[in-house]
Amino acid sequence: MAGATLADVIEELEAAYPPARAESWDAVGLVCGDPAQEVRRVLFAVDPVAAVAEEAVEWGADLIVTHHPLYLRGTTSVAATTPKGRLLHKLIKNDIALYTAHTNADVANPGVSDALARAVGLTGDLVPLRPFPDDPSRGLGRIGDLPSEMTLGEFAERAVAGLPETAHGIRVAGALSRRVARVAVSGGAGDSLLGTARAAGVDVFLTADLRHHPASEFVEQGGPALIDAAHWATEWPWLDSAASILGSSGVTVETRVSATVTDAWTRGY
Ligand SMILES: [Zn+2]
Repeated sequence: MAGATLADVIEELEAAYPPARAESWDAVGLVCGDPAQEVRRVLFAVDPVAAVAEEAVEWGADLIVTHHPLYLRGTTSVAATTPKGRLLHKLIKNDIALYTAHTNADVANPGVSDALARAVGLTGDLVPLRPFPDDPSRGLGRIGDLPSEMTLGEFAERAVAGLPETAHGIRVAGALSRRVARVAVSGGAGDSLLGTARAAGVDVFLTADLRHHPASEFVEQGGPALIDAAHWATEWPWLDSAASILGSSGVTVETRVSATVTDAWTRGY
């Protein structure tokens, strides 16, 4: 049986994560690789960084699918004089392609925030926090319910248990005794969705990269409680979901989800 080509794999990924749904500032799709090359092993990871490239070489991957783009802005050089240039050289020398599904994976159904919602224990139907006007089943973030009402402290512990461990851990804003049942989540930096989460009337909003001033003002104004998790940890659950798309497709490839923690924060004190 003929192996899958990179083009075959990309076709499956783009059916699930249409590039046309990516934000205009984003850079998604194939970064390096020949669409005609054969792909047997696909490694899924959040970040296109040296540790992930090393893992791909060691495992014998033919393709890395990452959530974050390698280059978000234009470049005039891919020389091996920068970390990104070195990474590209390593991949090309080892015949490893790199493909990115970023904001198009965030807004997909199921997308990044569906996987995050399930990881932290939300059950039942999930709806986008900020749905697309032309397709309410897709959009940024997800709202869902906990199986039963619990305290904010209990939910925080559930989130810690459901997310991969990082040095960052999670931070909570709000009284731990507060009762919570309806939850909004958004994988990655969710600052821009604070107002949307308040307007949605949820009890708690879990996201990443929250800053002091917006979070403080939000809590002062009686907004929902906040949980700030590690950026990497909020997006990592999606990797399994993306890998399973290839697993259930017509292409025959071996998939692996990288467990290498590539969150920027490597130690908390
Ligand atoms: Zn991200």
